Amino acid sequence: MISESDARAKILNAVRPLPARKVSILSALNRFAGKDYVARLPLPGFDNSAMDGYAVIAGQCKKGARLRVTGEQPAGIDRKLQVTDGSAIRIFTGAPMPTGADAVVMQEDVTRQGDEIVLNCDVETNEFVRACGCDLGEGQRILNKGERITEAKLALLASQGLAEVSAGGEVRAAIISTGDELSQPGDELQPGQIYDGNSVLLEALVNQSGATVSSTSRCSDNAESLRKEFQAASKNEILIVTGGVSVGEHDLVQATLQTLGAKIDIWRVALKPGKPFLFGHLGGCFVFGLPGNPVSAFVTFLQFVRPAILKMMGARDVDLKKLPAKLTVDQSNESERAHYLRGRLENGSFTPVGRQESHALFGLSQSNALLRIEVGESLKAGQIVSVQIWD
Ligand code: AMP
Ligand code: MG
Repeated sequence: MISESDARAKILNAVRPLPARKVSILSALNRFAGKDYVARLPLPGFDNSAMDGYAVIAGQCKKGARLRVTGEQPAGIDRKLQVTDGSAIRIFTGAPMPTGADAVVMQEDVTRQGDEIVLNCDVETNEFVRACGCDLGEGQRILNKGERITEAKLALLASQGLAEVSAGGEVRAAIISTGDELSQPGDELQPGQIYDGNSVLLEALVNQSGATVSSTSRCSDNAESLRKEFQAASKNEILIVTGGVSVGEHDLVQATLQTLGAKIDIWRVALKPGKPFLFGHLGGCFVFGLPGNPVSAFVTFLQFVRPAILKMMGARDVDLKKLPAKLTVDQSNESERAHYLRGRLENGSFTPVGRQESHALFGLSQSNALLRIEVGESLKAGQIVSVQIWD
């Protein structure tokens, strides 16, 4: 049995980032930047008004002052207007500042009288003016290679006029849930059957990681059916199989993969939950065999499949986010495998939730963090620990 860290290193060593290519901006969402990006346009692109109001010369604007309105500057066109002594220009949010003006007074702060305004307050220089480049300077780094392209980052790239973005490779995953007992949600359950929860669990996790699920299927514990499914799935970058990777007579995944010529690099990891884990490759397709128990499938996905997917997609950081938390109860690990405890991180405290067994899906559904306890490790209530979060 291999240690968790050796398994992870072996997997991350085997997978390579796929080539980056240009994609239309929206399809870059949740993918990773294929190169560094620097701003080619400052933000804002020109001095403009932050309010609907009047562009003025602040030095002339004491409370009670009267100014003549000599023009109107809307957003969307630069009328090249000028503010001179004793005058003001009607201006709207986002409109370019007229020459000579150094402040905007809000329309709520003036009384309009025909062609004139009377100020109801003093005005300070630069008030309600959004200066060119105050948010972002030209040449400033806006995205690092390997950084996740989030919604706001997409908007930033669009604000630079980009319609296409260089994004790291797209990873297509096939998901196969195996087991004679599996029934599809929506169908009627027969005695002895269970609903297949892993297919949706894994599809959701793959989507969340930014990869694409190209197919999801269910397969009975039958070598011939498995062969067909594996063969069809091997055209993808990765194949995720759950169930049937253990040692029982009905666990046919490993043997079937081998008859197809797959190379198995890892089988069984010193991890709880998640021991019956398999990693190998079938031609150019990386194969991850996850245990059928849902909590084990979840944990092994996060610890092994997710980082591999992220590396292939060109991510710089493939680790789950870690946060410090105060442990609320004593915990120790007397087993021979590192233990991932499921629990809730709330207001800086971590409390284990539900049954800590690999089939206990309800407990998992109530949790939002994992605490890893090393073999032989003893943790005390009140101690600060580091927990992993996935959402
Ligand atoms: P296995 O890894 O095939 O030995 O399965 C271990 C346990 O996980 C058994 O109790 C299975 O019934 C259960 N299991 C296997 N596949 C799934 C699935 N797709 N959804 C929910 N439970 C499953
Ligand atoms: Mg099974």
